Amino acid sequence: MSYRHILFAADFSPDALKVGERAKNLAKLDGARLSMIHVVEDMNISLGGGYELLPVLPELPDAVLLSESRAALGELAHKLDLTDRADLWVVNAPSTKEGILGAAKEHGADLIVVGSHGRHGLALLLGSTANAVLHGAPCDVLAVRI
Ligand code: AMP
Repeated sequence: MSYRHILFAADFSPDALKVGERAKNLAKLDGARLSMIHVVEDMNISLGGGYELLPVLPELPDAVLLSESRAALGELAHKLDLTDRADLWVVNAPSTKEGILGAAKEHGADLIVVGSHGRHGLALLLGSTANAVLHGAPCDVLAVRI
């Protein structure tokens, strides 16, 4: 069986290149479409507790994070030699898991590629994002060992 649409979940850790290379090579082997997604967690929702009502926290953080993330995702695609060969999505979601799974469902991805660990370190057997994605995924998940 070959994959038709591979979704690479990209953070901006030093290992993102290694994970991206695996996703890229698999897409090449299978002749699959490749999409890259980075999720910006919704600041206001994750802060909770009414912080969003404080005037010192304007709309700014999300907007800045979104535009910086778009630039960083473009840079990562460039390093992977994927400019114009992969769809790049930066989405705002309550959690990274929801952003990745929502996009996978919406766009019919049949493989999600994540790193086994990322910015949350090696404390867990499987990093928190990889674990969360695995449990809710509508398709196969590849956790690239880091
Ligand atoms: P972590 O949960 O930090 O251990 O991250 C494990 C893996 O989840 C990373 O290698 C990425 O593939 C993916 N990931 C982490 N954060 C994000 C994010 N904000 N957007 C998309 N993918 C992410």
